[in-house]
Amino acid sequence: MLRRYAPAVRSQSELAALQRERLAWTLQHAYSHSDFYRRRFDTVGVHPEMFKTIDDLRRFPVTTADDFRDGYPLPLLAAANRDIVRIHASSGTTGKRKVVAYTQKDIDDWLAMFCRCYEMAGLTREDRVQICVGYGVWTAGAGFQLACERYGAMALPTGPGNLDLQCTFLVDFSTTILCCTSSMALLLAEEVQRRGLRDQISLRKVICGSERTSKAMRRRIVELLGLEEFYDIPGLTEVYGPGTGLNCHCSSNIHYWADYYYLEFLDPETLEPVPEGEIGEMVYTTLYKEATPLVRYRSRDLSRAVAGPCPCGSIMPRHSEILGRSDDVFIIRGVNVYPSEIDAVLSGTAGLGSEYQIHLDHQADGRDYLTLKVERQAGVGSEQDELLQKALISQIKHRLLVTPRVELLAYGELPRSERKTQRVFDRRYD
Ligand code: ZN
Repeated sequence: MLRRYAPAVRSQSELAALQRERLAWTLQHAYSHSDFYRRRFDTVGVHPEMFKTIDDLRRFPVTTADDFRDGYPLPLLAAANRDIVRIHASSGTTGKRKVVAYTQKDIDDWLAMFCRCYEMAGLTREDRVQICVGYGVWTAGAGFQLACERYGAMALPTGPGNLDLQCTFLVDFSTTILCCTSSMALLLAEEVQRRGLRDQISLRKVICGSERTSKAMRRRIVELLGLEEFYDIPGLTEVYGPGTGLNCHCSSNIHYWADYYYLEFLDPETLEPVPEGEIGEMVYTTLYKEATPLVRYRSRDLSRAVAGPCPCGSIMPRHSEILGRSDDVFIIRGVNVYPSEIDAVLSGTAGLGSEYQIHLDHQADGRDYLTLKVERQAGVGSEQDELLQKALISQIKHRLLVTPRVELLAYGELPRSERKTQRVFDRRYD
């Protein structure tokens, strides 16, 4: 198949040369056109001309979500008003939203990256793409929709929720591709099963974004909808939006579009690079962004770089799926716990469903307790509860050094969500 959206670089050395050249451009552009960056660079005594090799990037200061909030409404701006064609904002739950401005070139670059995702997922112009993500100021709706049209597939912009409409469209338009959060995909998959529509739908693939998805949840979605493939599309509003990378059919590792942004993996405490392959915070520097360029932007997302070439042949580097956010890591009895570690244990235990909650409580004895509420797999009764509980407690204790309490629930008992599912409930400081 002709790869229309493949990167122009053909080797690691060509990629590194492009990154060096574009990083120099971004630093110069930010310094020359953004008051924020000029002040920030001047304060620590660095200048774009000090950048000679990629390693020199580490001399430049990091930026954070606070810089977006402090600069509200148009933070980090490096373009004139007449050149800005669009504004997006994060769905931020606390404080002010993070606002990002785009020039037409920024939009075009974003869509080119997004089309590369559709291409990697094997979409064709014959595909019918049901887009059940939020439309509005946030990036999801516009990204999935406009890239789908530019790619030449057929977009069905159904938005989130409204299961009745979703099911009707799945059947009537023979939708082949579903784009949504994995929580929404699960909700829809269970509804398709409830209505007995499995034989009337033509879905082949889902592209899920914006939340971490456990293996068990993927398996459940794939099984209920009879899918060929499940794709994970990461994205941050600050870095254009969704579409900046995708896993390929070989694994759940994500190829990221390193010809559009440069990624560092840093220790969140020391801001030093972590050894290759270890978990670090993903820190982004954009290579082309005009209106809101990012220089060493701390995303708070954690993942690890994956070394070596991928069997799929793409030369774009890979990182693991997002393992959580540095803000999500909780500490219980002195142990750092990533929710993704609990995902992994649950996904590897037969007899359990994909849905669970983690409750953290401080009790009268002065100690903290971790309680796991987990659904049994569909069709599994309570006869095996004692064995399952024992197995879970021992595996979690072995892996996390914390002994949990385990409550098993019937399949379907935990709440489902159309957007992102809340899994951690920390009531220790209430
Ligand atoms: Zn690959």
